[in-house]
Amino acid sequence: MAATLMDGRALAARVRAEVAEDVAALGELALATVLVGDDPASEAYIRHKHAACREVGIEAVDHRLPADAAQEDVVRLVRRLNDDAGVDGVLVQTPLPEQLDEPAVLGEVAPIKDVDGLHPFNAGLLFLGRPAHVGATPLGIMRLLAEYSIRLRGVRAVVIGRSPIVGKPMAMLLLAEHATVTVCHSRTQDLARHTLDADVLVAAVGVTALIAPDMVKQGATVIDVGITRTDAGLVGDVDPGVAESAGYLTPVPGGVGPMTVASLLQNTIKAARYRRGELAFPAG
Ligand code: NAD
Repeated sequence: MAATLMDGRALAARVRAEVAEDVAALGELALATVLVGDDPASEAYIRHKHAACREVGIEAVDHRLPADAAQEDVVRLVRRLNDDAGVDGVLVQTPLPEQLDEPAVLGEVAPIKDVDGLHPFNAGLLFLGRPAHVGATPLGIMRLLAEYSIRLRGVRAVVIGRSPIVGKPMAMLLLAEHATVTVCHSRTQDLARHTLDADVLVAAVGVTALIAPDMVKQGATVIDVGITRTDAGLVGDVDPGVAESAGYLTPVPGGVGPMTVASLLQNTIKAARYRRGELAFPAG
């Protein structure tokens, strides 16, 4: 039987409607984005994020620096946004150009405004099982899993990819829901040995058709995070033939992507609540 497609577009529209209600209740709020350079994929992501903010009534402020910006210039801008009382959330679009020390820049974002959850303080809280700000992609995936009532407690979950923005936080969130989590990556040997064991499989790599049909257990839930731009459009990490054996599958496009943007809006609401004292931001 063919897999149930997990409709991220429809759920994201509902999340955005919830966010619009929150915005109406909270009053003005703003997300500042920082884009260094002119990478077309990053520009496209920033455009989507801004459009989504506008749609729900969040002010999105677009800060741009040239590709050859110096570390001090980027840090100065981030500090200015940290100090700006009119800014609720700060997002530095990654990857940054090579000459910049990316961890150092991300470490400058005020933790309370760190909507991507990439500051060591927020990453550490997630690691300790006390999450505050958590990245939008893994959060969006968790919401999608909940929406389709996918069981996580006690099941085997395999995450492919170990980046700070997707793979690692994803593994932490699944662990917090009591899944037994395996993290695979570029040096993993015999990937299929691990994936075949997965009740829940999350592929966050960026390699087209990495997950072939014979690598997936019958009835598994498969979350395709990967995005590769091809002439035929956006393509994920999962071979379309997987739909024949999986129980649930996220389409690309229309699965994780819309949920990422919707969750970023929710994170901006959360940042506004922290700053207004409606939610207590952890002291450490
Ligand atoms: P990344 O390049 O930082 O990480 C990729 C990971 O894949 C690494 O941890 C690496 O070890 C692993 N990897 C590489 N080759 C592998 C292989 N052959 N087998 C197993 N593992 C391998 O990328 P990222 O930022 O984590 O993003 C991953 C993918 O997800 C990209 O395609 C990106 O465009 C996409 N993405 C999508 C969304 C969304 O909203 N849909 C959000 C973020 C990222």
